[in-house]
Amino acid sequence: DPRLKAISDALSVVPNFPKPGIMFQDITTLVSNHKVFKHTVDIFVDRYRDMGISVVAGVEARGFIFAPPIALAIGAKFIPLRKPGKLPGSIQMQPKSQFYQVDEIMNLCCPGEVISEAYELEYGNDCLEMHVGAVEQGERALIIDDLVATGGTLSAAIRLLEREGAEVVECACVIGLPEVKGRRLLDGKPLYVLVEPR
Ligand code: IMP
Repeated sequence: DPRLKAISDALSVVPNFPKPGIMFQDITTLVSNHKVFKHTVDIFVDRYRDMGISVVAGVEARGFIFAPPIALAIGAKFIPLRKPGKLPGSIQMQPKSQFYQVDEIMNLCCPGEVISEAYELEYGNDCLEMHVGAVEQGERALIIDDLVATGGTLSAAIRLLEREGAEVVECACVIGLPEVKGRRLLDGKPLYVLVEPR
């Protein structure tokens, strides 16, 4: 597919970002090229259009760039998988008044309930969160991020969706390291990657 070369060519590499020694794969140059951004979304949409997917989950932050246009095009809902403390309700809400009725407090708290899954990074840990009720039992879900390296982030995303009863159909990224791209499975789930890092 000649579009894949255009996608790879549109990526840029930023040395020593965010830390010395890291060659950061940058998708901002891809999405600022309308034709190539459209190629990228089109490839995913063609693949997922007829797979009965009703949920497209995007991983913060760069998964949020690709997941919504895919969700809109395939007629699915978009849900954000966010870093800790970002989803409304993820930090314990303090009632403004001690005179709130119990049912008022329930109404304040329940829509914002979140679940969390921790994962390991090269140095330290991070966590992804999802709203309880964001998916329904048995819904077929696709998970989108810009890049997969160790797969730790996507594994946490899979666990979040499965805890809420969704069926993860596939994980998809624009960029995957050669070893991951070749593996084609992540925690037993299919993994689909368009190009390797530059
Ligand atoms: P993993 O958990 O090791 O697979 O790392 C993937 C996560 O780290 C994804 O959420 C990526 O957005 C992010 N990431 C790691 N390296 C890069 C990079 O070079 N460019 C863009 N994102 C990266």
